[in-house]
Amino acid sequence: MWQASILTTCLAVLCLLAQGCSTVPVTGRRSLNLIPAGEELQLGLTSFEETKKGTPISKNRAANEQVQRVGKLVAQVASPDLPNAQWEFVVFESKEANAFCLPGGKVGVYTGLLPITRTDAGLAAVIGHEVGHAVAHHGAERMSEALMIQGGGELLKAGMSKRDPKVQEAAALAYGVGMKMGRELPHSRQQELEADQIGLIYMARAGYDPAEAIAFWKRFSEANGQAKTPPGVIERWLSTHPVNAERIKQLEQLLPKAREEMKKPAQ
Ligand SMILES: [Zn+2]
Repeated sequence: MWQASILTTCLAVLCLLAQGCSTVPVTGRRSLNLIPAGEELQLGLTSFEETKKGTPISKNRAANEQVQRVGKLVAQVASPDLPNAQWEFVVFESKEANAFCLPGGKVGVYTGLLPITRTDAGLAAVIGHEVGHAVAHHGAERMSEALMIQGGGELLKAGMSKRDPKVQEAAALAYGVGMKMGRELPHSRQQELEADQIGLIYMARAGYDPAEAIAFWKRFSEANGQAKTPPGVIERWLSTHPVNAERIKQLEQLLPKAREEMKKPAQ
């Protein structure tokens, strides 16, 4: 506990100094971000290349077309909030129901998730949510916290170095992408709800009915209890994305505002 309170104090001081803070698009929250943008982008690009080397890429035409079609529309509306993005959408062949978006707009969707997303709108809910994490720089926020916990004060003074094992460790924890790593620091509850909020607005702006996000999360939750879902398929994403009453309630509350966004003409 003492460690947590020291951390909170440090974060508050850093924010007061107006350094290492950034504003989250859509929600306007001030968040801790000690990672230089170029460094974060580079970590995302490197991690994505490693994931592509280590995980088979799907050749399923329908799956690829759907992910490209939906991804392009979500990327269009998210681009103003992620101006340096190098958008890329890759379908990975895996039974696992999982998806991610790395810094720099590198998105991975696992084929195991597609029977649960089902429709373009369901997929837009997932991609919108994952892109929401990226535009809010949640990975950098977690990484900043991990660095602080590891006594990263000196490290930050000395400057970030990708080769420094502490930086690599923090990045691995924060982004947790490589299947090889087998561990992942989950997003905080606040980050999850924030990504839901951003994702809902993005999918609406992209032209999809935001109500489909609620339908997707309910299907995802049900899939967990179904005998026909092989063991291990949804555990990993479910562990970081618990479908609880709070999540559904927030989405329902935000629905009218998100539907307003649907009416806005494309920019
Ligand atoms: Zn999430």
